[in-house]
Amino acid sequence: MEKRYFTYQQIHKSAQRIAEQVEASGFDPDVIVAIGTGGFIPARIMRTYLGKPILAVGVAYYDINDKPTESPRKVQWIEEAEKKLSDKKILLVDEVDDTRTTLEYCVRELMRHHPEEIAIAVLNNKDKPKKGTLPSEVKHYFVGETLGDTWIVYPWDAHDIDEHDQLASHT
Ligand code: 5GP
Repeated sequence: MEKRYFTYQQIHKSAQRIAEQVEASGFDPDVIVAIGTGGFIPARIMRTYLGKPILAVGVAYYDINDKPTESPRKVQWIEEAEKKLSDKKILLVDEVDDTRTTLEYCVRELMRHHPEEIAIAVLNNKDKPKKGTLPSEVKHYFVGETLGDTWIVYPWDAHDIDEHDQLASHT
């Protein structure tokens, strides 16, 4: 599969563009919910522009024995913040919308907290048939860049960041 490399500089600018889209849309989130781990760095950059607090959640596709599972499961959630999310506007952030399974799972779980509204922000959406569907309550979907069905290599996965940046400059 074709690979696409993004530098930290590109990620920062993409997150800035998303924050600008959020501001232009009139959607004014009370809180950012970052899906870990890929959503952590994008959410933190968006916070620079949007100035909103971040809550973190962790979801994974493997079980306690490190075996892959059919659907995501929570490895960390925000039960203690439950009351704080009711009637709040949430900006849910992840790095990439691939099959959409993770986003659907997180939106549905967050809706149990009775927020006023949930919007989604991703650095990248892959233009492909999706397994997950977003509930009609999701009125806003912000994306930095839509790509085809390629494998995206983010800088935080690099063992050698200089080599990574070299590869990024060729794609
Ligand atoms: P989903 O299929 O649920 O939309 O995405 C699940 C997770 O798989 C994403 O949050 C992300 O961590 C990972 N993932 C999917 N596609 C890519 C990709 O192209 N590059 C990287 N680095 N991770 C991906």
